[in-house]
Amino acid sequence: MALIVHKYGGTSMGSVERISNVAARVAKWHRAGHRMVVVPSAMSGETNRLIALAREIQAQPDPRELDMIASTGEQVSVGLLAMALKARGVPAVSFAGWQVPVRTDDAFTKARISSIDDARVRAELDAGKVVVITGFQGVDPDGHITTLGRGGSDTSAVAVAAALGADECLIYTDVDGVYTTDPRIVPEARRLPKVTFEEMLEMASLGSKVLQIRSVEFAGKYRVKTRVLSSLTPPDIALAEESESGTLITFEEDETMEQAVISGIAFNRDEAKITIGNVPDRPGIAYQILGPVADANIDVDMIIQNQSRGGTTDFSFTVHRNEYQKALEVLDGKVRAVVQAGEITGDPKIAKVSVVGIGMRSHVGIASLMFQTLYNEGINIQMISTSEIKISVVIDDKYMELAVRALHKAFGLDNPAA
Ligand code: ADP
Ligand code: ASP
Ligand code: MG
Repeated sequence: MALIVHKYGGTSMGSVERISNVAARVAKWHRAGHRMVVVPSAMSGETNRLIALAREIQAQPDPRELDMIASTGEQVSVGLLAMALKARGVPAVSFAGWQVPVRTDDAFTKARISSIDDARVRAELDAGKVVVITGFQGVDPDGHITTLGRGGSDTSAVAVAAALGADECLIYTDVDGVYTTDPRIVPEARRLPKVTFEEMLEMASLGSKVLQIRSVEFAGKYRVKTRVLSSLTPPDIALAEESESGTLITFEEDETMEQAVISGIAFNRDEAKITIGNVPDRPGIAYQILGPVADANIDVDMIIQNQSRGGTTDFSFTVHRNEYQKALEVLDGKVRAVVQAGEITGDPKIAKVSVVGIGMRSHVGIASLMFQTLYNEGINIQMISTSEIKISVVIDDKYMELAVRALHKAFGLDNPAA
């Protein structure tokens, strides 16, 4: 008998019929003798609808009130799922985040989980019930409801699994695992039966939205056995088959995995580029530009400073698109006050495309194959950054899909059967 956490995403919870399928699947696991905790998301489209509603009242919604609104989608889901379980004769109880409680900091709309109390959940499990806990929401030290950022139910599920010391966390979604790239963009993408934790972390942070990055961080920190699999298979498929399906996140690299140089291609359109022209090339300049940006709580991703010509240079960096306007304001204000610079230009129409793989550690020529492939497609590279297991480039966003498809093929990731 194991303690298992299931997470179901928006599509998986998208209709009364789908919720009833989820209940049938959970009932199967419960019948097999497992102690079950289930963490559902809001029904698909619901969180967007709630946020849009808030924006109709206030263009820049008050963050505390926005969380009060956005968190309700998950509350509906847990109630419906607990009812569907009870209707099948499975004892169940639903909890909102604050009832557990799932404690977070007070960073509304992007709160971080600080601790999860397991006493109430364990008591209900001991009583033989399936415990259904809201994804995405928590409660701050003053009792205010918080949310964990978009896609945050993944993080709720893995954090609950960590807090309970669960044997496994199964993330059920609308694809049957983690693919070499988003199968919606590249139909030839292949499912990876296994992916290392490090690769998953890079892929999630570079834009593969199949898992929220913080869920991967939790899985790594607490060594939670985590698997991504489909919620769209018949709910009565054999449990043994279901338990081996999808993609397992592993903490060891085995030999077969090392053979694949590149495991996946990630992409996003979440960033914007800012360039400051004619910056004096002297010590302290990067600090004088990026210090005020950091003080404004804006995360900077890629940074490039060119060779100086005649004592001045161009300085470029990327920020999240949501923080682009704010970053421009900081540069025009606080930074201009101390740095003698030329024009400040911005470009929100960029995309970041990355190749990821632990095999890169032991192979040369990955960067040159990447650059050659983009060159063959006539795509200009604006910025480059690398780590031990990834190479990212910034390109014009209108070429993003072309770049992803070309790289997928060039690195031999296309499914031969597709
Ligand atoms: P859920 O509602 O279940 O949380 P999401 O929409 O958040 O589902 O995540 C699943 C989606 O992630 C898939 O439908 C797919 O389009 C997208 N995706 C992006 N990159 C990948 C990838 N590398 N492998 C699988 N799915 C991916
Ligand atoms: N419902 C939330 C969202 O749409 C959380 C999640 O789905 O993981 O972002
Ligand atoms: Mg998701």
